[in-house]
Amino acid sequence: MPPADQPVPTVAVIGGGQLARMLAEPAAVMGVPLRLLAEGPDASAAQVIADHVVGDHTDLDTLREVTAGCAVVTFDHEHVPTGHLHALEEAGVAVRPGPDALVHAQDKGVMREALSGLGIASPRYSFVSSPRDVRAFGLPCVLKTTRGGYDGKGVWFIDTEAEAAEAFEVAAAAGVRLLAEERVDFRRELSALVARSPSGQVAAYPVVASTQRDGICTEVVAPAPDLAPALAMQAQQIAMRIAAELGVTGILAVELFETVDGRVLVNELAMRPHNTGHWSQDGAVTSQFENHLRAVLDLPLGAPEARAPWTVMVNILPVSGAAPLYDGYPHALARDPRLRVHLYGKSLRPGRKVGHVNAYGEDLDDCLKRARHAAAWFAGELGDASE
Ligand code: ADP
Repeated sequence: MPPADQPVPTVAVIGGGQLARMLAEPAAVMGVPLRLLAEGPDASAAQVIADHVVGDHTDLDTLREVTAGCAVVTFDHEHVPTGHLHALEEAGVAVRPGPDALVHAQDKGVMREALSGLGIASPRYSFVSSPRDVRAFGLPCVLKTTRGGYDGKGVWFIDTEAEAAEAFEVAAAAGVRLLAEERVDFRRELSALVARSPSGQVAAYPVVASTQRDGICTEVVAPAPDLAPALAMQAQQIAMRIAAELGVTGILAVELFETVDGRVLVNELAMRPHNTGHWSQDGAVTSQFENHLRAVLDLPLGAPEARAPWTVMVNILPVSGAAPLYDGYPHALARDPRLRVHLYGKSLRPGRKVGHVNAYGEDLDDCLKRARHAAAWFAGELGDASE
């Protein structure tokens, strides 16, 4: 606890994943205490935030206990029921982002309806309740559960009516709606991040290109190479408009498709620091984590611009049998003294996000090579340090 003559607001963070862990760094730098609700005593963020409670984020009493005495509550994930968040607001805790904004990141159906109401370019969509509806919508298409999906789970690429069966089973078992979307022929995926404070100040990060494998983000290049300036500005304006219209506070990540015919369409929204913003820890003047913290405290935001011409972020996704991550340091750090490595304190499981590396510099190919090599090395993909 800070000394009594130095009063400072405590920020409650719900969820003990790597995003909460990475929020702890700017919080320590800024002298802002965090109080964490973690899933378990060994959760990624519980390892670095001393003031933590272990409990269930769907239990209102636990949420009340964690937020008691805190000025603000924010999130590592989007899974806290909005009814509970309204109850916390009524108890006088500032919930940032608030439940009426957050629901758009929880429910893809609510998000699609809101964006079409705002006239924001998005893939054509429809709610479907039978395989026949899917055929009527048009094949091929993409089916998505409106809630509960992440990292590509809850998303099906459907070519035939028969292939829709599994999606309907999953949706019915989970008691959620199913959404059909046109399958967008995209050139690549982009992400536009903004931080927005309750006072309405907004900081827009450079638009980045992200690569996904099996629905998991693997690599991000900041800024998106060869992105037409008009399209970059359009993507930033879309993100700023969504943040303002939905009343988002903190970081909003807008995942976009850049279509082959040069348009940007919104894929989905996240209202928390996002994997496509991790590059900013080392490549921007103010990281997304610091700006998230500043925003939820309604402090003036920091400059979001890049510090280097290029930053490449590559996630560490271990292969089976990978060596402990710490063992990767001697080679990776000796080979590239400008590399920045971020490890999350998680057990290794094949394909699990356990860390990432950032390489920044003047030359994109060099940054790509350095970041890809280091991530592959930590992931156990390279048998030999000389590769
Ligand atoms: P998640 O909630 O798991 O992140 P997304 O809705 O972002 O799910 O979908 C995961 C991935 O599936 C996207 O990153 C994209 O590569 C692909 N995808 C999603 N929607 C579409 C679409 N309408 N057309 C083409 N590809 C899509």
